[in-house]
Amino acid sequence: MGRKRKRIVRTRPIPTLPTVFDCPICGGANSIHIDIDRKIRIAVIQCGKCSAQATRPIRPIEEKVDVFGDWLDELLEAAEGNN
Ligand SMILES: [Zn+2]
Repeated sequence: MGRKRKRIVRTRPIPTLPTVFDCPICGGANSIHIDIDRKIRIAVIQCGKCSAQATRPIRPIEEKVDVFGDWLDELLEAAEGNN
């Protein structure tokens, strides 16, 4: 007489990486969309509110959040350079 063992199914929360971001140029919330083309290793960054747009080469392991971070760094550096 075997008792059925209750199997404990643990649902592991899958960390979801953000795919939309706030625009550092116009400040639009979640207005930055990034398209990654892994075949040609290019990411296209586009703001739906202002006309901000950038194309960046990416490394295969990079995610949208990395692309955005790099772009942001570049913008900040460029802004500092202008001062
Ligand atoms: Zn914008």
